[in-house]
Amino acid sequence: MVTRLAASELGAILSSHFVDQSKLPVLPIMLYLSLGAKELVMNTSEPPKKVVRNLPDLAALVGLSKRRGFVFQSSEIYGGLGSCWDYGPLGSLLKLNVKKAWWNAMTRRADIVGLDASILMHPTVWKASGHVDGFTDPLVDCKDCKTRFRSDNTDSYLKDKKCPQCGSKNLSEPRLFNLMFKTHMGPVEDAGSVVYLRPETAQGHFVNFLNCQQSSRYKIPFGIAAIGKSFRNEITPGNFIFRTREFEQMEMQYFVKPGTDAGFFDTWKETRWNFYLKYKLKAENLRFHPHGPTELAHYAKAAVDVQYNFPMGFSELEGIHNRGDFDLTQHMKFSGKSLEYFDEAGKEKFIPYVIETAVGCDRLVLAFLCDAYREEVTLDEAGKEDVRVVLGLHPDLAPIKVGILPLSKKEELSSVGLRLRDQLAEDFDVNYDEAASIGKRYRRQDEIGTPFCVTVDFETANDQAVTVRHRDKMTQDRVNLTQLNRYVFENLKDFYK
Ligand code: ATP
Repeated sequence: MVTRLAASELGAILSSHFVDQSKLPVLPIMLYLSLGAKELVMNTSEPPKKVVRNLPDLAALVGLSKRRGFVFQSSEIYGGLGSCWDYGPLGSLLKLNVKKAWWNAMTRRADIVGLDASILMHPTVWKASGHVDGFTDPLVDCKDCKTRFRSDNTDSYLKDKKCPQCGSKNLSEPRLFNLMFKTHMGPVEDAGSVVYLRPETAQGHFVNFLNCQQSSRYKIPFGIAAIGKSFRNEITPGNFIFRTREFEQMEMQYFVKPGTDAGFFDTWKETRWNFYLKYKLKAENLRFHPHGPTELAHYAKAAVDVQYNFPMGFSELEGIHNRGDFDLTQHMKFSGKSLEYFDEAGKEKFIPYVIETAVGCDRLVLAFLCDAYREEVTLDEAGKEDVRVVLGLHPDLAPIKVGILPLSKKEELSSVGLRLRDQLAEDFDVNYDEAASIGKRYRRQDEIGTPFCVTVDFETANDQAVTVRHRDKMTQDRVNLTQLNRYVFENLKDFYK
């Protein structure tokens, strides 16, 4: 019988399992605990064999990311550029897969369309949205409740340097600060040519609300989804790719009839929660954080964050907001154009309310990496530790689906292996590796989360088959070469069955 134990539960469970106390495997267990195990996977009919450790800290992930080609510091050879990161060969694939998962979840529904709006928008958009006026003053950040406020007209700050929301004195220095990156359009750099790099993708959805609705002929309730770069001149970026100044957002605005908004807000909370479970974020690492009245943005009727338990603690992963009709009303006011919706069934016009779901792609990549990382530690007879680092990514997200590993570099094997590489590459992202011992190559694939490894061996020429190893179950199947693509396709789908 296999039992998963939290380290803190060990004492009680051990004494109940081992009636004969003299048989308690005390020494190995103490050793496992001293390795920092948070969880013990043990076979209770034999002495424990394997310990699973979680990610020790962010530094371990930063190291792996660089070593294996997930994320590099931007402009590294020049000393790097603060809070900017480059996604390497594997990172770019992983990020693409995360975007694909989100995009498919959103747009393969009958009620949501996609949009790819430009980063540069008419400057009045940012007047209407409140960004121009909201972010051009001397600003102070409250490091506790995250309120950002003006230092030049806030009484509590002017009087005794306190946050007006929570009273904390844990504040940043005031800075003349514009959250938006400003640039100029055209050859003349004067005030009339100022444009901004968008600080969120959402405004593209609002200004295109009727374009999308009328061209798709969708009726309310319906949504617009987009993935794109956003830019914020953050005061306090950091924690690797958690908070950066250039990042990618995945936002969806769902337009509903006023009065139905509270129900849709709840539905979207549930939908987004289930998305994370589907892609195997552990439920215990997720929680909702509803915004209290002091945290609510001025335009929001209700808001909740989905928080993830990052190495630095639970922090926002996604925001789900009921924005009411604030944005459409503002754009009607500033553009002079109607953005009202005509409901044919009820023969009435109204300005829809908006439920927004907004998640950072980079932040989600970080969550998936943190959650997937595990170290499987086994001790041999002599008590020597062997560590298998595994990125247990959901197979849809794993950058490489199949590693092709010929048992030796001999031509008779590598020629089959390379042919197989091309055959599999027609359907999947694959990696061919013939350098180093087979054990080391398996470990390399485990560390990047490859669901299946295919070994070409000296029998292959005879039986026209290869051995396929499952990353998590460690089971092996002998599969005919001609059936391999179908086998991988079906088993990727059934990976957790
Ligand atoms: P935070 O308080 O963490 O800065 P926010 O509340 O300002 O985030 P939103 O404006 O609601 O964030 O943006 C939606 C999502 O975009 C966030 O939940 C987060 O995942 C992502 N995001 C926002 N700012 C950044 C950033 N600077 N770097 C990376 N991702 C970000």
